[in-house]
Amino acid sequence: MLSKDFWRLVSVSFAALMIGVASSAYALSFCAGALVYILWLHRTLAGLLNWVRDGKTHEPHEPPGVFEEITIEIDYLRERHKKRKKKLAAYLKQFQQATRALPDATVVLDEHGAVQWANEAAARYLGIRWPDDLGQRITNLIRLPKLRDFVRDHTASTALEIPSPTIPNRFLSVLLAPYGAAQWLFVARDVTQLHRANQIRSDFVANVSHELRTPITVFRGYLETLQDQRNLAPPAWLPVLDQLHAHANRMQTLVEELLLLSRLEQDDQVPNPAPVLVSELLSNLVKQARALSGPRDHLFALEADPVLQVTGSESELVSAFSNLIFNAVNYTPAKGLIQIRWYADARGAHFEVQDNGIGIGEEHLERITERFYRVDSSRARGPGGTGLGLAIVKHVLLRHGATLDIRTKLGEGSTFRCDFPPSTIVAQAALPLSRPA
Ligand code: ADP
Repeated sequence: MLSKDFWRLVSVSFAALMIGVASSAYALSFCAGALVYILWLHRTLAGLLNWVRDGKTHEPHEPPGVFEEITIEIDYLRERHKKRKKKLAAYLKQFQQATRALPDATVVLDEHGAVQWANEAAARYLGIRWPDDLGQRITNLIRLPKLRDFVRDHTASTALEIPSPTIPNRFLSVLLAPYGAAQWLFVARDVTQLHRANQIRSDFVANVSHELRTPITVFRGYLETLQDQRNLAPPAWLPVLDQLHAHANRMQTLVEELLLLSRLEQDDQVPNPAPVLVSELLSNLVKQARALSGPRDHLFALEADPVLQVTGSESELVSAFSNLIFNAVNYTPAKGLIQIRWYADARGAHFEVQDNGIGIGEEHLERITERFYRVDSSRARGPGGTGLGLAIVKHVLLRHGATLDIRTKLGEGSTFRCDFPPSTIVAQAALPLSRPA
């Protein structure tokens, strides 16, 4: 094919040479020949451009030679592109049909949380209709404060449970998964059955605890009367009375803590939050911890920002903080050091209890806050320990938007830190106390 172009060029050059010989004006005739050839090339290229733009003609472009070759190549690529586009469109259709049929509500969000696509289940469970709600922020379509925080923080790893905004008494577990360039897949799954099972379990525990409360109180009452008359009891009964008393106390604590946990589980927000001056309640808790330590004579160090206040429930914070402080006493050998801190920094307010006690193995940390979880069945529970303390701490913190951070080394000690977000701080020292080293 190339030869056609070559002969074309040779013919023009030869014609120019002939005219040059005839007219003795070689330079002029070669220039004229080159000009004619360039004009022809320009016209052919313009024709080729029209052919490419037209996009419909499959006939190879004239004239034969390199231009014809180019048109055949372009036509081949164009056809291949068309086939690929068709295939992709078919895949996309299949994918959309599959996601549309998914039982889980699926919504594609852009980086600002605006709806880009949604399936049919999203309309059913969330009331999000595609394409009607295209470009609308999901937090404007579903107005729930906890969902707003969830989407804002892009909490990809944890699921959030919300009530369905469209179907009463339905509960959804929501997950946000990042994909593509700054896009998010918002998936909501119906977990009503699981929610009901949890509710039944929780109600059962609350009801049983409630029913046990009265008999235990009566039982303790009689025991106390008997103990008041110890001098009348045969000496062999005295250790039995003491044991009965200790176990009755333990049962009462257990029932009270189970009831407290049930109450905490009802809602993940404090009902009537108010500013809490933590430093004041910490001084009290340290006094109680000294009493608990008794002859074990632990050393206590308290460093607390005197004006730092967070909004929440004082009684719940007392429960959480006392559990952590009393655990430190219970799991630190006699004369151990227990440091308690309450301070604020740019990340929020922090309550920290550090001990140099027995510590906890890394493998237990994931489950340590589960109710009744035992680090080691051979490890005796601390006096009065029910195995519910850290579960209570976890729930209290959840209701305050706070998190628990545990650092511990077996044999060296543990640090339990409660991190409250800056939004919970209502007052703090003009110069925030820096975290003690
Ligand atoms: P318990 O009533 O048994 O103290 P918790 O829920 O408060 O129950 O704690 C769960 C377990 O975590 C405890 O049984 C104990 O093994 C471990 N633990 C808690 N705090 C500490 C601590 N400061 N040092 C060592 N182990 C701890």
